[in-house]
Amino acid sequence: MEPATCSFCQRNQAFYRREYEGVNLCKNCFKASIEKKVRRTIGTWKMFTPDDHIAVAVSGGKDSVAMLMILAKLSTKFPRTKITAVTVEEGIAGYREEAVELASDYCRKLDVRHEVISFKEIYGRGLDEFLRDKTERLTACAYCGVFRRKAINLAARKVGATKIATAHNLDDMLQTYMLNLLEGDVDRFVRFSPILQDPRGRFLARVKPLCEIPEREVALYGFSEGLRFQSASCPYMTEALRNELRSIFNRLEIAHPGVLFSSYSAMLKLRELAKPGVPPSALESCQSCGEPASSIMCEACRMVGVTSERIEVAA
Ligand code: SF4
Ligand code: ZN
Ligand code: ZN
Repeated sequence: MEPATCSFCQRNQAFYRREYEGVNLCKNCFKASIEKKVRRTIGTWKMFTPDDHIAVAVSGGKDSVAMLMILAKLSTKFPRTKITAVTVEEGIAGYREEAVELASDYCRKLDVRHEVISFKEIYGRGLDEFLRDKTERLTACAYCGVFRRKAINLAARKVGATKIATAHNLDDMLQTYMLNLLEGDVDRFVRFSPILQDPRGRFLARVKPLCEIPEREVALYGFSEGLRFQSASCPYMTEALRNELRSIFNRLEIAHPGVLFSSYSAMLKLRELAKPGVPPSALESCQSCGEPASSIMCEACRMVGVTSERIEVAA
């Protein structure tokens, strides 16, 4: 059988069949289509302004490395836009070292400033050490997620960023919406969005420019750009329900191409419909560290047991 020709340029041989659009794409047209989709998402959600300094959260995994590359490419058209990559070193032995190394390599190649911040520097202990002393039954990911969010905020403020970009892809978005529904957390369901902004402008906005790109296409983009990313999995990975949802959605997408997009857009519409019934987020500044908090102290400070001293990261 003749190899398929690219449906876009009608010239090159296709290397990928995008079932949900019914098209074949050559490598160049595939990469261009991903960059165009990301540009469109940024525009639709008004994620950036030309003067933004974007702190790109780069873990060293495939999604964040691909996002850094795409944003670095797109920013060449906006000379006033600045990008700084921010990597959090959680202190997980045998896992994070490779990722930090990879993230640094790409930043050097792309000529992007790279800021690495560690749990140890902020909380006095890395995750391994922290978990060793804990007796509560919270999962490692529950601590890690909270600590990392704050670490990224601190690093972004330290470098003078105006926005934070994280690499959630379409699959992540859908899983999170479903998790919130399955856990009956309507408030979180409504508040989760491609762009999170503090209406009073006290905290940095967080945006998700890859939110409309399926996970497999992010991986394929990385592969077609020859990107290397972290191979090891985190030894604490436990998010059972999220993993089940991932495999259910993968199976559904293979059997019914396009189902990821249709469910995602239904989630966004449901979110809009449910909004009037959910009070706006009442985030305040943590009395200990000044970071966003839903009560007197932020979750991270409560978890580390900080009482009153203010955590500062040296500039
Ligand atoms: Fe942290 Fe959990 Fe991710 Fe490991 S899997 S890096 S513990 S959030
Ligand atoms: Zn083509
Ligand atoms: Zn705090």
